[in-house]
Amino acid sequence: MLKGKTAVVTGASRGIGRAIALKLAEQGANVVVNYVHSETEGQKLVEEMIGLGVRALAVKADVSIFDEAAQLIACAKEEFGSVDILVNNAGITRDGLIMRMSEEDFNRVVQVNLNGVFNCSRHAVPLMVKQRSGRVINITSVAGMVGNAGQVNYAAAKAGIVGLTKSLAKEVGSRGITVNAIAPGFIETDMTAVLTDKVKDTLKESIALKHFGKPENIADTVIFLASDTGEYITGQVICVDGGMVF
Ligand code: NAP
Repeated sequence: MLKGKTAVVTGASRGIGRAIALKLAEQGANVVVNYVHSETEGQKLVEEMIGLGVRALAVKADVSIFDEAAQLIACAKEEFGSVDILVNNAGITRDGLIMRMSEEDFNRVVQVNLNGVFNCSRHAVPLMVKQRSGRVINITSVAGMVGNAGQVNYAAAKAGIVGLTKSLAKEVGSRGITVNAIAPGFIETDMTAVLTDKVKDTLKESIALKHFGKPENIADTVIFLASDTGEYITGQVICVDGGMVF
């Protein structure tokens, strides 16, 4: 379905990003796997993808740093000739109530989760404009839509992604580029593994389907948006949350 397309997935060494990268490769895309710490996991994933018959490359870059994001996109262009699909997935949490949250913890979460989306889009979009096609898919969160106590930094960054997504969709729609966001609910990854069983049980009660999602649920939605099936969808936030926000 995506044969010959080039995809860049930020934060693809683990969790949701890993599942997204793998599904894109299964659909025939060549994939740039971005990571910042997990080099071994990134390389392993690349080998798995090459086994699927596509081209793949692991690139270390901290997306919160403008020049590193530039290098990440430049690597994709150099190696595979274009960037057709950009999935801005990299994200971190540094939770805490505002009374105790440090300025550093607020700023770092915004820098990675929101500036990271700007930094990568800033360098990929000009390539997409030139080729008059492209898909930008940003991973936000239900926390950015309804808020979450203990996450003013994270929710602010994720709400920022929603505004960025809608604005960019309006800017580049006439160039054949779609820009959408996916808002996961609670998905089983390292990010949610830190929650206690008691907290998990309480959270499940707030989900219509009464269970957490899997990274593949988000990856399937990315494939839907990145392929021809998503060609007339732009500026949207799609909740993949088992029924939390509606
Ligand atoms: P995760 O398992 O903690 O993985 C985070 C990924 O982001 C890792 O690959 C990590 O790379 C990468 N990363 C972190 N900081 C980075 C940076 N500065 N530059 C580049 N890459 C960086 O998280 P996840 O649960 O898969 O979450 C993925 C995305 O979904 C995030 O944006 C998160 O906010 C969002 N989300 C998750 C959930 C959930 O329930 N899990 C819910 C809503 C939204 P290294 O391995 O190299 O550190």
